[in-house]
Amino acid sequence: MKKIRIFETGWNGTPIVPMQENVGENDFWIKRDDMIPFSFGGNKARKACEFYRDIKEKNADVIMTYGSNASNHCRVIANMAYAMGLPCHVISPEGHEEPLYNTKLVQQFGAKIEYCPITEVANTIEKRKKEYMQAGKLPYFIMGGGHGKLGTEAYVKVYQEILAYEREENIHFDYIFHASGTGTTQAGLVCGKILNKDYERKIVGISIAREGDRGRQVVRESIHEYLGSRFEELYREDDLVFVDDYRLGGYGESSLDEIKMIQKIMAQEGIPMDATYVGKAYYGMCCYIEEHGIKGKKILFIHTGGTPLFFDSLNDDEYKRGK
Ligand SMILES: *Cc1c(COP(=O)(O)O)cnc(C)c1O
Repeated sequence: MKKIRIFETGWNGTPIVPMQENVGENDFWIKRDDMIPFSFGGNKARKACEFYRDIKEKNADVIMTYGSNASNHCRVIANMAYAMGLPCHVISPEGHEEPLYNTKLVQQFGAKIEYCPITEVANTIEKRKKEYMQAGKLPYFIMGGGHGKLGTEAYVKVYQEILAYEREENIHFDYIFHASGTGTTQAGLVCGKILNKDYERKIVGISIAREGDRGRQVVRESIHEYLGSRFEELYREDDLVFVDDYRLGGYGESSLDEIKMIQKIMAQEGIPMDATYVGKAYYGMCCYIEEHGIKGKKILFIHTGGTPLFFDSLNDDEYKRGK
């Protein structure tokens, strides 16, 4: 197994930079997790770094994961596996065959992509794991989206980075907004807030797919898993703000207003945002701020990555209509 030197040394945090944005006369900053220096960065690269350590420790020799072959998650995991010199086996639900940039990269990294009907996913994973073990291999399975305790841990660390920035710059963010999908990113940030007893700050996850009750429940479970026995004592329901008002029809769907916002942010700030995650969350944040009359606050938005999807969207008719 080869070492990935950038994961060994770390990268001293990602930049937090001020924005031109002024909706509601608030001041905005953005944390550029899309600038993590591995595989276009993003929260999947953050999480991958935690899995990297675990894979080395366990001395695994095959990396398995689940997800759409067009996902940021599969791109980063397949990239990491290649860089470690390990084979990668991706189990992918049928019906996402149209190749996007992420798909092409996953293929280039030499990952084996196995398609199966969505109802057969759990069975297929178990079957393949067993086969590897019977062949004397030690497979390491990473859940879709990097969900799980290690993924949560990655964003507890991000929370520490934010605290360090605040101390250095002598400012305090009243709000942190970000895209919430499997909920691991949000769980990590909320655990960071809880463990630091930061009651004054609101973390708002903008759902990009799931509806409120189910989405919130998944984040709560991840928080519970991470805090373990301290959950009952530390967790308050108020700490978990999961907003599903800006799903715009569900996963992968978008509106013309969102597309226009993405174009504005690229032109005005020089920052690419994809329509599935970051652009949708950013658009949702601006609506939320207006609807809740939030004014004169300091607001941090976390850019969770997905840059290859931004380039895919340039080819969409929808993007051309936005102009
Ligand atoms: C996966 C992903 C998210 C969602 O993160 P979760 O931890 O699953 O909630 C947000 N933004 C981008 C760009 C992603 O790829």
